[in-house]
Order: sequence, then structure tokens, then C-alpha cells
Amino acid sequence: MTILGSVALLLQLAQATSVLPPLSVRAGDRVRAVPTVVHPEGGIAVRADALAEALGGQVVADAALAGRFRFEVGTTGVDLQAGSALAVVAGDTIPLRAGVFRRGDLLFVPLALATELLPRLGAGVLFDADNAELRRFATVTAARRPPPPRAARARATTIAAPADNARSAAARSAALRRRVVVIDAGHGGPDNGMSGPIGSPRKVFEKNITLAFARVLQRTLQAREVQVVMTRTTDTLIALSDRGRIANQAKADLFLSVHVNAANPRWSNPGGARGFETFFLAEAKTEDERRVEAMENEAIRFETSEDVSRDDPLGFIMRDMAQNEHLRESGRLAEMIQSGMRQVHPGPNRGVKQAGFRVLVTAFMPAVLVEIGFGTNKSEAQYMTDPARQQELAETVADAVVRYLEEYERKVGGGG
Ligand SMILES: [Zn+2]
Repeated sequence: MTILGSVALLLQLAQATSVLPPLSVRAGDRVRAVPTVVHPEGGIAVRADALAEALGGQVVADAALAGRFRFEVGTTGVDLQAGSALAVVAGDTIPLRAGVFRRGDLLFVPLALATELLPRLGAGVLFDADNAELRRFATVTAARRPPPPRAARARATTIAAPADNARSAAARSAALRRRVVVIDAGHGGPDNGMSGPIGSPRKVFEKNITLAFARVLQRTLQAREVQVVMTRTTDTLIALSDRGRIANQAKADLFLSVHVNAANPRWSNPGGARGFETFFLAEAKTEDERRVEAMENEAIRFETSEDVSRDDPLGFIMRDMAQNEHLRESGRLAEMIQSGMRQVHPGPNRGVKQAGFRVLVTAFMPAVLVEIGFGTNKSEAQYMTDPARQQELAETVADAVVRYLEEYERKVGGGG
């Protein structure tokens, strides 16, 4: 490259980086800032070699064909070619959002390679959109099988307990200790939430049930070596958006909001309504939902840290992309919690549902809202306020959360 060419390139890079913040890449304790540029096709691109290096990987050029190279992280290799928007991984061709391109001697890849493709390949790479940070995990656990049910697990440890099992169990529990779960007890302070039951002189308030259950769940999860952050531990009001923010600041791995259902008084037998359900955030379907979603997303941009300004296109795009991934993860988590509760809950299984809850919108991580029963129903109000039943229900929810986290560990782990 000529000197003039280098200068032009540097100018171009400088121009681009003055607009776009770098991509933060964490590998262990080391954090690198990988410069980003505007992709000629639109969107954002990153230098392939800088990205690979920051992830502890490398770019290996194909000697035979200029512009063809392999992007390697751990044992995962992605074959790419300048001018092409196709990636080849273990013989499978995967379309990228935009093409790979060359500028001077440097190869650039679309940002989606880092934030979407690598996390999907089980390369031990995870994108944390809230902190606009790409993370490389050291190996977590080699186990690919789903964990056996509790009884079988106990048997396996007492009878066999081979060294390998012990090691992977230790690795798993070490991995779980790094995981942070936020438990959000719904309502509080002047906001009682629902009150019930219908036709009973003794009233229960949702805010008290959610707090009591949240505390039992906190202890139950802590006993399973999971870190827990509570949005509230007393009878106090916390703004919905603050609940998500608490979770974001805690860099939580999942967010669980606890609520108590109330029957619609217009139902034919409102006092008879019973059951439990788990929600995750819906994609907006109606115009009104889209309006609310836009409003909430706008508010979020004011709530995140200062280094990500309102006009920052990178942060916005990243958060947008990660939200989609979180939707799938939230759905999975909701399924696991719902099927866990089904084992002990006396009420009917009302299933997994979707809705545009504000409290879930602001949490940039897999997030669910659990309705543990109908406080308007006499027997369920009694069920939810019985400490023994609270414990029993919390055990099934905690088991589901741990199963989810273990599954998640297996997905992000194994990167060598
Ligand atoms: Zn509620």
C-alpha cells in the first residue's frame, strides 16, 4: 500500500471511529476495545484480525486465494471471503447480514459475526448487549447431555461418582456461582397490587405475597449456589423501569418477576378462577403495543450508562439484536419454570403466555413474569400464603432456574 493510501485509510478509520464507539471485548480479565467502522453496505463492521485477537483467537489467511481466510476462536473455525456475505462453518454455509470486505490490507467482517454468529456456534462467545460487550468464556463444562432429574443425580453421585462427573459437577457449580438471578417481588409500598380473596373478610395483598415468596425463592436459589439480587426486600415502591435497571446494573443472567393474579370481576365466576402462568415479553402485535414498545425503548436510551449516548447507533443496534436473542431465551426459561411449577401447584396450568410488560422491557436479559396463583380465589390465596407450600413451589422454580442456567452454560461453554 502507498503512503498516500495508508493516510487515506487512517483518515477513513479515524472518521469512522469518531462516530462509532469501539466494540468492547472481554476475554477473562482482559478487555480490549476493537475499533468499529461503518460498513459500506450499511450497519457496522469490525476489523477481523483485531476482533479475533481480542477474543483470544486468530485470523488465518488462505495462501492460495487472496481474500479468503479462516476466523478461529477456540475450536470453532469460520471460513470467510472478502466480497462474500457467506460464512462456512464445518461444511455448512451460513448467510451473514452483510459482506466481508477488504480495505487496503485489512479485512473487515460485519459486526453480526461477533454478536450473532459466534454466540450461536457455541464458540464460548456471548454478547452482553446491556454493556455493549462481547465476552469470551473459558471452558465451562464439556457435558452436552441434559442433567438427569434430581433423584437420578443423587443416585449417580452415591453409587458411581467417577472423577469426571465430580469434576464437571464442580465446574458446573463454579459456573453457577458466577450466575446472577434477579428476583423482583411485584408491587410494594402504596401499590398493593391485587387484593383478595373474593367473598372473604380476611384480605391478602399481592405485594405481601410476592415479597414473601421472593424471599423464600432467594434462600432456595442461594442454597443452590446461585447469586441472587432482590429488587426490593421491604414493603416499598420501586418504579417498573428501575426494576429492570437494577437487573442491568447487577449484570444479571436472568430476571424473574413474581406476581399474583386477579380474576376479572366480569367473569361468570371470578372467585373460582385458579391457576398459574408464566409470561415472557411479547413482540408487539397491535398498533397500541407498538406505540408502547417504542415509548419504552425510547426511555431505555436515557437510562443506560453515559458512555452510550442517545445518538449512538452501535449501542442501539446491539441492544436491538440482543433483545431478539433474549426473547427466545425468555421463552425457553418460561417453559421450564411453568413445567416446574406444574409438578406441585394444585391449580390448573394456564400455560406460557406473552405480553408487553414494562418491567420486562427494561431488563436486557432473559426475563419472565410469573403469576403464582389467583389471590382472588380462597384456596389459592391460602396456598400462596402457606410457608410450607411457598417453599415447595420455590423449590420447583429454583430447580427450573438452575436447569436453565446449566443449559445456558453448556451453550456458551465448551469453547476450549
Ligand atoms: Zn402484579
